Parts: sequence; C-alpha cells; structure tokens
Amino acid sequence: MNNNAHPTLPFITGRCTLVGAGPGDPELLTVKAVKAIQAATVLLVDDLVNDEILAYARPGARIVHVGKRGGCKSTPQAFIERLMITAVREGETVVRLKGGDPFIFGRGGEEVEHLREAGIECVVVNGITAGLAAVSGLGVPLTHRDHAQGVVFVTGHAKTGAGAAEEPTDWRALAAMAHDARLTLVIYMGVSGAAHIERELLHGLPADTPAAVVQHASLPHQRHVATTLGRLKSSIAEAGLASPAVIVVGDVLRGLAAAELPASTGRFGT
Ligand code: SAH
Repeated sequence: MNNNAHPTLPFITGRCTLVGAGPGDPELLTVKAVKAIQAATVLLVDDLVNDEILAYARPGARIVHVGKRGGCKSTPQAFIERLMITAVREGETVVRLKGGDPFIFGRGGEEVEHLREAGIECVVVNGITAGLAAVSGLGVPLTHRDHAQGVVFVTGHAKTGAGAAEEPTDWRALAAMAHDARLTLVIYMGVSGAAHIERELLHGLPADTPAAVVQHASLPHQRHVATTLGRLKSSIAEAGLASPAVIVVGDVLRGLAAAELPASTGRFGT
C-alpha cells in the first residue's frame, strides 16, 4: 500500500479493497476476491452482488447493503464514500463489493479518486463483467476472426443531471463504427432505452444484424432472447426481459439467431 503521495495526511492504518463480485455465480469469483472478502472487517455491498458470496465473510464482519435492494432508494454515492473513508480511518479492513468488475460501469473509478483525495489508496480486484458472462452463457465469442475484430462495452444509460457528460451516447456514430470496423456491441443498462437504441443504431447497422439480450447472466434463472436489431425492442417485450440484462449486437451472434429464431427465452442448452 502506498500512502506516500499524501505526506501531510494522517497515517492510514485501515485498508480498502474494491472487489469485483462477478456477474452472480459465486463460482466465478476470483481466488483473490474470496481472500479479500475473508479478510474484511467491513463489507459494503452493492445491488447485483449475489448474497451467497457473503458466506465467505468472517463471522462478526459488518455487512452493509448500500444498494436499492436493502432498503428503498440506493444509498447516495457520497455517503458510501464517506462510510468507506471513516471505516478505513478507524482501522477497519474495508471491502467494497461490486457486481461484475469494479471498473466497468461500477463507479469504481469515482470511488478510487475520492478515496485517493482523502489520502487512501484502494486496491482493485477484478471481477468477471456481465458482458463476458452473457456471451459465454450463449456459447458465442465476443470476437471472431471472421465476424468481429473487436468489442465495445457501452452504457445505454448515460449520466444525467448536474455534472453529467454533455453528450449522451452517440449511437449513430457507434453503429457506423461497429459496421465499418466490425465490432461487437455490448450494451449495459440498455433495456429500458432499447427502443431509442434500436432506432439510432439502425442508422448505421442493417435491421437483420443479430442481437441478443441476456438477463441474469451466469445465474440459474438466466434467460435470453436471440433476435435481430430491427426487432430488439419488440423481442424484449415479448420475452418479458428486464434489468439486469445485457444487450449484445453483432455478427458473432449469427449462428445463435439462426438457430433460435423465433425468440427463445430458455436457458442456453436447456
Ligand atoms: N460493474 C458491473 C456493471 C454494473 S452496471 C459489471 O461489470 O458487470 C449494471 C448493469 O450491468 C445492469 O444494468 C446490466 O446491464 C448489467 N448486469 C449486471 N449483472 C448482470 C447479469 N447477471 N446479467 C446481465 N446483465 C447484468
């Protein structure tokens, strides 16, 4: 741990680790994540973290649910960060448990920055991000030498309000790029905005571009639909899929869509 960057701040005795809890299946945790959870005296747990993972916590560890699930509204980010800083200063071993990977749409970057400003260096333990689990669950790759030269992880739900990025996602530019450079699109938090995303992406991608939506990836109740970009919104509605789900768009899905159209909502392989 390196606290030398802030020599004027008090010596920090506690430790802080941002841990990726993966997409849900506890067996997808890394060994390092399990060790960090076992060492924690305080765990701050996000929504989308499978409670089964908390079985690794030591007896007596303080477990704080800071997501919507625990109460009504999501605990404000600033409050969570204050909690982390206070606990570290009190000498606790703090683990911030986040769904998937902490640095993929997990606000991990903001937390690391704010803790650093308070003189606390966080260690980050990667987790398997939902987009990876989603395509693995379908048995298709994200890249393929014949179909996709790369992959884009993108949010369907841009930050709004004060301090928001000025421009929301430029879906048309993304569609053109995905088409020309042959990229797979993996869209997080996109289900509620699917109509808009479909409409905009159709400016640069053909309507028959394969698409899939995977809900609860890696969990026993995983469901998916294989469809096309032109039918994205209607397929989601017909299948009754909702958050948390990842939308995948691209030719890597071609075999899947052909095999499964019309829409299937079963678990892959069942
Ligand atoms: N840090 C997380 C993403 C947090 S944003 C990660 O790396 O996976 C929350 C979004 O992630 C959800 O809206 C959904 O799009 C996606 N997500 C998280 N868990 C998921 C799961 N098990 N199945 C499908 N999508 C999931």
